[in-house]
Amino acid sequence: AAGAAAVAALLVDVPDFPEAGVVFKDVTPLLADAAGFAATVAALAEAGRGDDGSVVVDKVVGMEARGFLFGTPVAQALGVGFVPVRKAGKLPREVHEQSYALEYGEATLAVHVDGVAPGERVLVVDDVLATGGTAVATRALVERCGAQVVGFALLLELTFLPGRAALGETPVLTLHQV
Ligand code: IMP
Repeated sequence: AAGAAAVAALLVDVPDFPEAGVVFKDVTPLLADAAGFAATVAALAEAGRGDDGSVVVDKVVGMEARGFLFGTPVAQALGVGFVPVRKAGKLPREVHEQSYALEYGEATLAVHVDGVAPGERVLVVDDVLATGGTAVATRALVERCGAQVVGFALLLELTFLPGRAALGETPVLTLHQV
């Protein structure tokens, strides 16, 4: 509840950024609030635990760039490793790549081929679930590594967009919905 309250209180709406008509959710005030940030990380990490509190994931995957900010402390909280999914061209070794549609055009994400090991169970962490395109592409990358996404954990869900439906059967935890 503290994590959800922090997200509700500390995310700031920025109208018309990065373009007219978009209301951008700025997470930087939440990051700057020690108690709110800690509560948010603790709440996200619950998605990596079973009913008895034991850790049920082998890795946390986070997407560039805000998925890094929340995914790395979640991985530390769970005592598991963190694997970055980056925009194409940034990772130095052999990668799997996955393209997905944006409103205008296309984006490509990448993961090191050995970033996640075959058979591992993965929690994917990011800030905002909008159309779900980023999350779907990230899940595809994890699966290309031979691993499995067992859950998604995000700060905020934009419920006027079909992100949750796009993710199908995979469990999705969002701390706050607008
Ligand atoms: P989707 O792929 O349409 O679900 O968009 C989600 C991705 O876009 C995430 O990686 C978010 O970081 C980013 N994103 C979309 N809207 C916002 C926003 O309002 N604030 C911050 N990030 C956003």
